[in-house]
Parts: sequence; structure tokens; C-alpha cells
Amino acid sequence: MRVRFAPSPTGVLHIGGARTALYNWLLARGSGGELVLRIEDTDRERSTPENVEQILDGLRWLELEWDEGPFSQAEQLPRHHEAIERLLDDGHAYRDEGAVRLRVDPEGETVVQDEIRGEVRFPHSGIKDFVVARSDGSPLYNLAVAVDDLDMQITHVVRGEDHLSNTPRQVMVLKALGVDPPAYAHLPLLLGPDNKKLSKRHGAASVQELRDSGYLPEAVRNYIALLGWGLDETTTFLSTEQLVEGFSLDRVTKSAAVFDEQKLRWMNGRYLRELAPERLTEILEERHGQAGLASAVGIAQEKMQTLEDFWTLAAFLVERQPFDDKAWGKVMGDGAAERLEAARESIETADPFDIAGVERALRGVVERLGVKPKEVFQPLRVAISGTTVSPGIFESVAVLGREETLDRIDAALERARG
Ligand code: GLU
Repeated sequence: MRVRFAPSPTGVLHIGGARTALYNWLLARGSGGELVLRIEDTDRERSTPENVEQILDGLRWLELEWDEGPFSQAEQLPRHHEAIERLLDDGHAYRDEGAVRLRVDPEGETVVQDEIRGEVRFPHSGIKDFVVARSDGSPLYNLAVAVDDLDMQITHVVRGEDHLSNTPRQVMVLKALGVDPPAYAHLPLLLGPDNKKLSKRHGAASVQELRDSGYLPEAVRNYIALLGWGLDETTTFLSTEQLVEGFSLDRVTKSAAVFDEQKLRWMNGRYLRELAPERLTEILEERHGQAGLASAVGIAQEKMQTLEDFWTLAAFLVERQPFDDKAWGKVMGDGAAERLEAARESIETADPFDIAGVERALRGVVERLGVKPKEVFQPLRVAISGTTVSPGIFESVAVLGREETLDRIDAALERARG
């Protein structure tokens, strides 16, 4: 199989484009074929070098390496002109007020055997002789795509459903050039959870945003592979090897697929938990440009769904955080200062000062005061982290260390006693 990913650099790489790239990549890898990257940059106004870079960056981050290219469609212009001349010479096209039109048999129809949608018929009554070159000589999009697919010896065109209506025109150009068109497969639309076309409203919409939000490329590959395809009815977690092995166009659905960032979060959380702690530490230390995060990672890993969550959960271990007024108001009511004072004493004397030792000491306080565990743990949590969201309290205290914990409790007590 020779497949291609042919993004237009008029914007960043969106999730829909990433899925198209992934499916093409899986087909190339699974069949021992090649993936060609072609940048469809003929819209000179809207195509920018920055967008090209962003798209390449997005593909690299997703680890979808291509075998040939990136080729610039604009640079194939001489080939497009040649094809237009040939169509004119062979009588398949004619000039009309300077523009060039392809002859379309008004009685006929073009039948596309789509690998996903089956036979799709396009009666020519709806097509008419169409323009393949403007009066300034510049080729039209459908001509450029058809000629490039031919030149690049593409065997399977796999792309979004929004291009289905272009297909008969591309097929007609190829037939007029005397060649058989490639196979076509049009992927289902992507929707948000509200069943509207996927957009920014639904959360991260570009690959860059997914990266910045702290998703792992392997989790993103797994999740977007499932947007319109499944190995079977039930399997959710698939390694990249399993995807390469198992992916096929005949299990791609016709119906629209829903991108739900909450599901991706959940899936990413599982990928994060499966990382070796050393590896996760390395990733987070690089992300935050900070060393010495191993112990914080150790206690946050279980609770994180994205890399971004790490900082929310563990910033207090690295740096003292201001008290969150809302959290403070909730847990520092009547008697909280006394309970915190009791917790302080137990932490001061906990021996040994490790997770188990801290737990024993704090549970002793709960018992002695005859209160619910959270009546002791929540004020303590706010004292050390500033908020009520943190990793396990015993782990947090143990990692923070005795001295720092006591200091922070003292600051909280001071504030409580005003
Ligand atoms: N350049 C088109 C796009 O970005 C894709 C064209 C194709 O795959 O044939 O939507």
C-alpha cells in the first residue's frame, strides 16, 4: 500500500487530521507499505510556513513518521500544467473564456467503490463540465490532487468524509488521463459529545493543545484510533503494536464518531499509571524544568489523569502555596485549630517519620479526639497544601518532611487564631 496524508497548512493539526494521519500511518506500517506526506499549499494566501511547522511538529509528537516527503503541492505546478495540456490535446478538456473545463458525459455517472461506504454513485447531472484550470492558468484543487496522487503512485486515498464529494471529479480527471484511480476510503465525521461538529468548544481541538494539556502520545494514538474503528466490540486499550497489527479499513464505521475529552483523560490516566515512575519523573522534570521531583511523582502518579494534573496535585510539595480561601472557609471552622494543634503534636513526635509512622500518629489523634478522620485530615491538608485536593495525606506529610510540615501548620494556626 502507498498511502498519503495531505494536510492543507491553513491552520494547525486538528484531531480530525491527526486521526486521518494515524489511520494512514497504521495502514502503511501494517502492510509494509509507505506513507507519503504531501503539504497541500496551493492556497498561497492561507498557507503559512508556521502552519506547516506546526503540522510537522504535531505529527512528530504523535510519533507518526512518514516515509517520503514532505512534498509541496505548489512545487508540483509544472506537472499540473502538463496534465492540463494533455487533457486539452486529447480533447478531454476545452477552453472556455480562458478557463479550462473537463468534459463530463451528461448522461453518465461516476461510481466510487469506497472501502468504507461501499458503492457511491454520482450521476453527472449534478456535476457538469467543471473547471480544471483558471483563466490565469492556475490548476484547480481537484486537478492538483488527482495528478499528485497519480505521480506519487498512491494506491489508497484515505481521508475525511468531507472530501467524498470531490472524489468523482478526481476520478474523472484520472480516467481522462488514461489511468485507473486509486482505491478510496472516506472516514466518518468527528463530533463532540453534544453531537455537533467537533470544534474548540469541546475542549482541546488541536494536537498542540493535547500535548500542552499533558496527554501522552501513546494514549492519544490509542484514543483517536477508536474514533471510527474498533478491533472488536469491547477492546479499549491497544498498544501501538496491536493497532498496527489489528487495524483495517473494513472495521471503520460509516457513522460519525464522538470525541470525548473526558474519555481521553481517563484513558491517559491509565497510561500514566502504567509508566515506570522513573520515566514519569523524567518527563515531568523536563516539562517543569525542575529536578528532584521523584518523591512528589511517587505520590501523585496514582491520582493524575494528565501531566498537567501533576502540578495541581503536587506543586505544594515543591513550593509553599497560598491558602485557598474557599477551601479554608470550608474546613477551618469551629474547633479546627484545636484539631490541627493536636495533629501538629503527633507529627512532631511521630517515630519513625515515614508513611506508616505518620499514619499511626494521625490515626491516634482521630481516636483520641473521637472525631471523624476528615475532621483532622482536612484542616491538615489545607495547612500543608493550601487546598483540599492533594495526594494521600500521610504520603504528603511524609514527603514534605517533618520540619516543613510543622512550619506550614504553624502558619495555618497563626492565621486561624488571627
Ligand atoms: N488537503 C485536504 C485537507 O487538508 C486533504 C485532501 C485529500 O486528502 O485529498 O483537507
